[in-house]
Amino acid sequence: MEKTLFQKIADREIPADLVYEDDLCVAFRDISPVAPVHVLLVPRKPLACLSDATPEDAPLMAHLLLKVGDIARAEGLAEGGYRAVINTGEHGGQTVPHLHIHIIGGRSLQWPPG
Ligand code: 5GP
Repeated sequence: MEKTLFQKIADREIPADLVYEDDLCVAFRDISPVAPVHVLLVPRKPLACLSDATPEDAPLMAHLLLKVGDIARAEGLAEGGYRAVINTGEHGGQTVPHLHIHIIGGRSLQWPPG
């Protein structure tokens, strides 16, 4: 199966501005940031979207959510707050078919989204 764009970034085949990595996930700056801080946190496992996660992925999903908090703190977002977003499928606005969590902050964000 062909690697996804984010697998290629995780495997260093495509350059990206990495901010964190471990054996389960990698985080890098979004190429088109929508705020002063815009990081994508991606599992190395190529789950296409949130709905593809199964109970066996529970430890991975927990790891990712805990890393969101760590990365937000490291990026200086903990005090002002931030948003973690998982776009899923066509209506969710997902454009890259590899599960990823947007970590967005550094300015006041609007709600609800469009
Ligand atoms: P989605 O719309 O699927 O939730 O988010 C995909 C995100 O990936 C977008 O915010 C887009 O800017 C980002 N993106 C797309 N291609 C690249 C790339 O080659 N490198 C990086 N760093 N980000 C990318």
